[in-house]
Amino acid sequence: MEQVERIIQESITQLQINDLKIAAVRSLKQFAIRQYNIMVREFGLPSVFLLLMATLANDEEEPVKRLQAQNELNKRFEFELPVGVPLQTFAKTYIEQNVTPVLDELAKVNALDPDDVSGRNSLRNRAEMEVRYNEHLNSIEELRASGHKLVICSVHSDCSERCSHWQGRVYSLDGTSGTTSDGKSYIPLEVATDVYYTTRAGRVYKNGLLGFNCRHHLIPYQPGYKLPVVNPNVEIQQRLITQKQRQLERNVRAWKTRAIELKDINREEYLKARRKAIEWNKRYIAYSREHNRAYYPSRTKII
Ligand SMILES: [Zn+2]
Repeated sequence: MEQVERIIQESITQLQINDLKIAAVRSLKQFAIRQYNIMVREFGLPSVFLLLMATLANDEEEPVKRLQAQNELNKRFEFELPVGVPLQTFAKTYIEQNVTPVLDELAKVNALDPDDVSGRNSLRNRAEMEVRYNEHLNSIEELRASGHKLVICSVHSDCSERCSHWQGRVYSLDGTSGTTSDGKSYIPLEVATDVYYTTRAGRVYKNGLLGFNCRHHLIPYQPGYKLPVVNPNVEIQQRLITQKQRQLERNVRAWKTRAIELKDINREEYLKARRKAIEWNKRYIAYSREHNRAYYPSRTKII
């Protein structure tokens, strides 16, 4: 556990957002415990060590060597019963039947966002959300600091339902409401951004315009500015394209994770997983191009 702690601490040194640091430590600790528990449940404690041996000593011609290694381990850890690859079983077959399914299960476990009550949001998503959210806060501060009083919110057609009501409107940064010189009404930015909701578990979140996962941005307002009005049907269509993109990204990541897990264990399955990852990545890129969307290598990256 001490070692896990050290790895976690090392991994967060480059994080600059404090909230994310705290969340990452909590999430990664839970992640390590869940992975460990799966291994202990499936193999028993001694076999967690022997699992390593089984993967190293997968030479089918040398059962004696394997037995020696096994005995050695048993002695070292003072276990009465030898556990691991049973005699007269090819290590490869044993691994395929008993180890690979568990590794698959391990690969499916994500590090989760510890503050998400649904338990579905991954730490990876949380990081992306935090970074974007932080950028929004900084940009509002910059606009304010450079003396802008009125801003207008950008418009994009695949906008979320949460934001669709707020996009394309003019806002003040000084808490005032009124009408611009060219006749547009404006309200304080906070009306759109400071929308709170309480989860069933009682946690309060701020989730309005420029909230988590928002891709809108603010531009200093100048009289005469006109932003395109989005047709609601187009909006729904575009939203579906975004969802499909996220699905394709998830597929690429899932196959990449599987490839990493299987790399030193099952060459055949490893190569298959790699091929699949490449295939899905091609599909992701082709789909994005077909729908005139940017594709992000960072979203399909694992490490
Ligand atoms: Zn938005």
